[in-house]
Amino acid sequence: MRRILRTEGAWLHDDEGSAILDAISSWWVITHGHRHPLIMKAIREACDSFDQIIFAEYTHEPAEELAKGLLAIAPEGLAHVFYSDSGSTCVEVALKMALGYFHNIGEPRSRIVVMEHSYHGDTIGTMSAGERGVFNAAYQSLLFSVDQVPFPLPGHEQNTLDAFEQLCRSGQVAALLIEPLVLGAGGMLMYPASLLTELKRIAEKYGTLLIADEVMTGWGRTGTLFACDQAGITPDILCTSKGLTGGALPLAATLCCPQIFDAHLSTDRTKTFFHSSSYTANPIACAAGLANLEVWKNEPVHARIRSLEAMHRERLERFAIDPRFSNIRQTGTIVALDLSVSASGYLSDAGPKLRAFFRSRNLLIRPLGNVIYLMTPYCVDETDLDRAYGAIDEAADMLAVGVR
Ligand code: PMP
Repeated sequence: MRRILRTEGAWLHDDEGSAILDAISSWWVITHGHRHPLIMKAIREACDSFDQIIFAEYTHEPAEELAKGLLAIAPEGLAHVFYSDSGSTCVEVALKMALGYFHNIGEPRSRIVVMEHSYHGDTIGTMSAGERGVFNAAYQSLLFSVDQVPFPLPGHEQNTLDAFEQLCRSGQVAALLIEPLVLGAGGMLMYPASLLTELKRIAEKYGTLLIADEVMTGWGRTGTLFACDQAGITPDILCTSKGLTGGALPLAATLCCPQIFDAHLSTDRTKTFFHSSSYTANPIACAAGLANLEVWKNEPVHARIRSLEAMHRERLERFAIDPRFSNIRQTGTIVALDLSVSASGYLSDAGPKLRAFFRSRNLLIRPLGNVIYLMTPYCVDETDLDRAYGAIDEAADMLAVGVR
């Protein structure tokens, strides 16, 4: 354990005087950099007027303004915002919206389709939707069943589409819940935007809703503000958290299209969307979210992302023909490489060894088993990246089974 005293930009400063490069954005939340001045200022100012306020019958300006701002930049057609406080909760909200929608329109569909290797959170509902394995084996009896389509391995994309269409034909599928373009915790697995476009087309054909879990992929990580933008689709429901406040405070939002909102809007109170947790729309977190929107508007964030993408691309090249690695991949600012070890998978021995090695080099990099990935804040520079890639190279010398 290392005790952090202070954060700044891409760095964590510990109580032994070391500066640690946060190469995974503190579990993918920090987008611009730690303690972005405008976001911290907005938080301080919000504290002069607000703490938590009930968000039923009462409202406040930070939540209203943030909702308007979000809808202005989200894929066109999303029209309503529901706040919660984490990635898991905003996906739970999405699942409830989907089932509530079909329940309220008198067409009770109840099946949820997910993609193999998905991760959607660690609550019971989101674990149910995620890949089953060591993380949730102990709770198996509590998890509900979902249908799964195979991950679209290159050259086998049609199998995924066919499997989805086959499931949709039953008329029972309420929604496809999917991480667009990059499956994060499942191993930074990447697939092309065209596949997402096709999945949306099939969903529409069968009246199935598409829920985009943009908890990780949102806020520029994949190169565009939302990953769905690259597929040219508007999901029926979009989940966002992490970078929503630039990562500074916990906040989440589930955006939905008018038909879902309308199905819950009624004088018949049995149709109400019954979901209201204590910290919904925390005003200070919403103020941080609003400041984040200002940063996106007023600073060259897109240019920073493009330059970070290029810096990665250049540095990844040398690994492409390196037998110590396979499956070198990049989507926007996210890069991943599989280290060739004798035992792969999340519980591979390589994971803890690599973590310890990176820690010893003052780098916060936490491989997913033998999958080494980088997902830095956008403020990193070439020297920071050289340091990270240099350490990956060294780590491979220590552990890889391949021959140079
Ligand atoms: N969905 C995705 C795609 C995620 O990557 C995560 C977290 N890594 C979650 C949901 C859950 O978010 P949280 O940890 O904030 O509950």
